[in-house]
Amino acid sequence: MAVTHDICIRGAGIVGRTLALLLARERLRVALVASPRPPDAADVRAYALSPASRALLQSLRCWPAESAATPVLGMQVRGDGAGQVHFSAAAQGVDALNWIVDVPALEQQLTQACQFQGDIDVVDEPVAAQLTVVCEGRASRTRAEWGVEFDRTPYPQHAIATRLDCELPHGQIARQWFTADGEILAFLPLDGPQGHRVAVVWSVRAERVPELMALPDGAVAAMLADLSGHALGALQLCAPRATWPLVLAAAQRWVGRVPDAPQRSFALAGDAAHAMHPLAGQGLNVGLGDAAELASVLAAREPWRTPADLKLLRRYERARQGEWLRMRLATDSLQLLFGRPEPLAAAARNWGMRLFDASGPIKSGITRLAMGTA
Ligand SMILES: Cc1cc2nc3c(=O)[nH]c(=O)nc-3n(C[C@H](O)[C@H](O)[C@H](O)COP(=O)(O)OP(=O)(O)OC[C@H]3O[C@@H](n4cnc5c(N)ncnc54)[C@H](O)[C@@H]3O)c2cc1C
Repeated sequence: MAVTHDICIRGAGIVGRTLALLLARERLRVALVASPRPPDAADVRAYALSPASRALLQSLRCWPAESAATPVLGMQVRGDGAGQVHFSAAAQGVDALNWIVDVPALEQQLTQACQFQGDIDVVDEPVAAQLTVVCEGRASRTRAEWGVEFDRTPYPQHAIATRLDCELPHGQIARQWFTADGEILAFLPLDGPQGHRVAVVWSVRAERVPELMALPDGAVAAMLADLSGHALGALQLCAPRATWPLVLAAAQRWVGRVPDAPQRSFALAGDAAHAMHPLAGQGLNVGLGDAAELASVLAAREPWRTPADLKLLRRYERARQGEWLRMRLATDSLQLLFGRPEPLAAAARNWGMRLFDASGPIKSGITRLAMGTA
């Protein structure tokens, strides 16, 4: 197959489209392989995006309007005992800790931007390129076909996502509750500063999913109101429920040669390279960091290196694996800490939360790490 493009990106999710725009800005000719079958329904999720992700998307003019990107002024995390931790934008001296972004709104911004960028060809089938970047998400077919192992450890929970209309305004606060049996409920503020709507991510034991998905909307809303201690008053479901199995996973290598085409190379980015528990809302932030790093490594390459140069691609791999390991450690430790039902573990984590809440500089440092500004 003759090489027609500098880069072929397989997978037109948020990471694939962001990378396409970044590379086109560097005057590289990009083919973006979009799935021929559009999803059956709009994504009900909303993502917590960090200041670093926001700056990246703003630089591409793809940041949604304020009604679809609500600034978070505070975060309240409650344990299963008396433990709680509060984070505040004011205490950090910033305008917002992060932004809760409506997924369909962000996808639409990126899709439009790609349509208007002359150096991006949106195609149905992969084309031959010097470098193929696989952004097909965690179930990537290309990664499997090219023999890259994906080490997975399933979590005992699945996530259920939906949206709620609330009696009380969310006040730009993200709220999270950890329960005694290792389940986690998060309410993320939507619809701008005055909004009464929240996106729900509810991590529940896998065996409970069929029953919870079959319950009538009213029963689910009542359960969520109880679990949240009625913090936002009466609740009403305003979106369908969708569910995802949760997994901690990483590809064994993130770059390599395309089998049977030794002049061509590949790199993995986003969930095709790594997947983590959504409790800290970091998966896409790390994926956008991959896109930014790969684009910057390619832009800064020495004149004699092509985008297929493996030495070059290993710079990307090294930089991003370090970041992934830090995030993996943080999210996996939290999940393990809150997944243990024993009374001693419960007492220790709630005591630890209170200690952490009063810890000044440590708390501030961890907040900055989560915000991507450390
Ligand atoms: C419940 C939940 C809540 C989350 N909340 C947050 C959050 O608050 N903040 C955060 O940062 N992250 C969050 N995440 C993680 C986030 O969803 C992922 O990290 C992110 O979607 C990864 O983007 P991606 O583009 O790499 O992959 P995907 O979103 O999986 O996109 C892959 C794309 O590739 C396409 N594709 C697949 N195979 C092919 C093929 N063979 N050919 C062509 N196209 C193909 C797919 O159709 C899709 O469009 C959450 C995850 C879950 C499950």
